[in-house]
Amino acid sequence: MATPCIDTNNRTIDYLRISVTDRCNLRCVYCMPAEGVPPKTHDDVLRYEEIARLVRIAAGLGIRGVRITGGEPLVRRGLTGLVAELAAIPGISDLSMTTNGTLLAQHAAELARAGLRRVNVSLDTLDSDRYRAITRLGRLDDALAGIRAAAETGLRPIKINVVVMRGGNDHEVVRFARRTVSDGWNVRFIEVMPIGEGARAASAHWVSSAEIRAAIEAELGPLEPTVLPGNGPARYWRVPGARGTIGFISPMSQHFCHACNRIRMSADGKLLPCLFTPPDAEIDLRTPLRSGADDATLASLFRQTIAAKPDGHHLDERAVPTCRRMSSVGG
Ligand code: SAM
Ligand code: SF4
Repeated sequence: MATPCIDTNNRTIDYLRISVTDRCNLRCVYCMPAEGVPPKTHDDVLRYEEIARLVRIAAGLGIRGVRITGGEPLVRRGLTGLVAELAAIPGISDLSMTTNGTLLAQHAAELARAGLRRVNVSLDTLDSDRYRAITRLGRLDDALAGIRAAAETGLRPIKINVVVMRGGNDHEVVRFARRTVSDGWNVRFIEVMPIGEGARAASAHWVSSAEIRAAIEAELGPLEPTVLPGNGPARYWRVPGARGTIGFISPMSQHFCHACNRIRMSADGKLLPCLFTPPDAEIDLRTPLRSGADDATLASLFRQTIAAKPDGHHLDERAVPTCRRMSSVGG
């Protein structure tokens, strides 16, 4: 088994997030403009066999966890085939997906059979009208059916990602927290980040994790610390006695850069050392990949990416970062 890569800040980098498409069937207000984004051409996007080759190389460098994301990964045809290929790569011990869940009911069983371990489902509200307002195109029932299907097929633990916006869904945080008791949900509240459409949401509607936690504790009493397996930056808590957990992802108020273990790959084959990497600092894999580069050359580009990881995002020191949209890098 390959030894994990350690970066210049002494962090072990063993987790790769792969965006398989920029396209999405929703238009969440903090993520995409209403009209969507210009789609990349078929040729721009890495083919599945190209992704699989790159993951094999990354596994050789100590990558253990792979998360498939997007855009909405399930809008890309034939995704189960990619899951099966990635699941078979020696060294990849945790294969997961982040999805809006609306197409998951149709695919959960085949994804689980192909070797997907677990899913994170983005769900910002439990109210149908509000779901339509936030996602602009989606139906709450489809997302809930996706969550049920994932649970039935064993894609667990399922984590429910809730981006909290003041005046949008902030009054629902206690309702979500109650689901950790009644249904065993693992809910993670995310602070909105000033990326793309999120820039406006972050300035006008931002809510801190501390405020969300206080609102929950005011209703349900003090939370107790707990753990939940995964690769992520969330800190986990539970309502005493609950089966499910409550996590807080606080990129703005309490960033987790010191413990960051990940690099990212975009659908068009760029490596990003950090979510907030500006376009001119992305590392191009696609050009060498398609010009016949050997595995050692591609491995050196992964190493270069890990070496370029900044110590932190320093968002508090800049206005709005000039990086990709979330829908293009996968969150
Ligand atoms: N379409 C899939 C989904 O929604 O789960 C995967 C891609 S989406 C970009 C990944 C995650 O990023 C989602 O949980 C979404 O809520 C989150 N996200 C998007 N824009 C955000 C923003 N501006 N601030 C915080 N989280 C954001
Ligand atoms: Fe699509 Fe996910 Fe962005 Fe919503 S958050 S628009 S579901 S990519």
